[in-house]
Amino acid sequence: MRVVCLSGGVGGAKLAAGLHDVLAPGELTVIGNVGDDLEVLGLHVSPDLDSVLYGLAGLNDTERGWGRAGETWQALESARTWGGEGWFMLGDLDLGLHLVRSQALREGETLSAVTARLALAAGLAMRLLPATDDRLRTHLVTPAGTFSFQEWFVARGHKDEVHALDYEGADASCPAPGVLDAFAAADAIVIAPSNPFVSIHPILAVPGIRAAIEARSVRSVAVSPLIGGRAVRGPLDRMMGRLVGGTTPAHVARCYKGLLDVLVIDGADATAETDGAVVVTDTLMTDRDAARRLARTTLEAAMETPS
Ligand code: GDP
Ligand code: CA
Repeated sequence: MRVVCLSGGVGGAKLAAGLHDVLAPGELTVIGNVGDDLEVLGLHVSPDLDSVLYGLAGLNDTERGWGRAGETWQALESARTWGGEGWFMLGDLDLGLHLVRSQALREGETLSAVTARLALAAGLAMRLLPATDDRLRTHLVTPAGTFSFQEWFVARGHKDEVHALDYEGADASCPAPGVLDAFAAADAIVIAPSNPFVSIHPILAVPGIRAAIEARSVRSVAVSPLIGGRAVRGPLDRMMGRLVGGTTPAHVARCYKGLLDVLVIDGADATAETDGAVVVTDTLMTDRDAARRLARTTLEAAMETPS
C-alpha cells in the first residue's frame, strides 16, 4: 500500500514514524515542509525535514520534544562567545547534519537530492521529499509586524497574534522531483497531525500539490492535531481561534476544504461539531507503539469504501 504523507516537524514526524513501521519498506513517501527553513551561522537548516529524519530514525529527543537525543551545545556556546548568532538552538549532533547539507547545497546539489542521501544514511526504507527544491518561506503577519517563521516562533516565542500568513516564493516554486509522481502512484494520502497554517499549507502552496490532492482517485485522510480543542504543544489552538474561528473538528476540516475524505479525531473531540466523515480514536502519540496504532487506524480509514 503506497502512502503519501504530508508532514511538518515534530507532530507530523510522530505519525510518519508510525506509518513507516506499519507499511512495507519503500511504501511510504513523506512530503515535508520547507517554509520554516532558515540560514543560521552560514548553514542551511531544514527543521521540519530534520524532525522527520530524526523521528523515523529514532534519533529524536522525546523528552525535550525536538532535536536529537543526547545532544550537547558546545559549538553554539562557542559561537555565542565569539559574538555569533545564538538565538536559534543548534546542538552539536544536529550541526553535523547541517554542515553536510549546507556543503551539498553550496556545491549545487538540490535539497531533495541531499535529503534523499541523508534518509539513506539514516537507514530509512522510505522516501523523504521536500515539497519543493525552490526557496519558499513562511511569514506571519501580526500586529507587531511581519516576521519570518523562526523569528515569530523562536525569537519572539510565538506570542504575537497571527492575522495572516504569506508563503513567500510559493507561486514561483515547483514541486520537488518525485512529488507529483508519488501522488500519482499513491493508494492513500495522509495529512499528518501537523499545524495546518505553518506546516501543511506551505506544502499545499506549491503549485500542483493542492491540485494533485483535489484530483485524487484515492482517499485522503487527515489526523487532527488538536485534542480536546487544544494543541498538544505549540500555538495552534490560538491560531485556529483567530484564523478559522474555533478549534472543533469542523474547524480543522475547514483548513483542508476539498482535500479530505475523512478526519481522524480524538475521543476528547467526539462530541464537538464535525463537518464530514470522522473516525474517532485515541490520537495522543505518547510513544512509538501509540504512533503505530494511530497509523493503522488512519490507514484503515483510508481504505474504507466511501459511503
Ligand atoms: P512542528 O513543525 O515541529 O511545529 O510540528 P508539526 O506542525 O508537524 O506539528 C505540530 C502539531 O502537532 C501541534 O499542533 C500539536 O498539537 C500536534 N501534535 C503533537 N503531538 C501530537 C500527538 O501525539 N497527537 C496529535 N493528534 N497531535 C499532536
Ligand atoms: Ca515546523
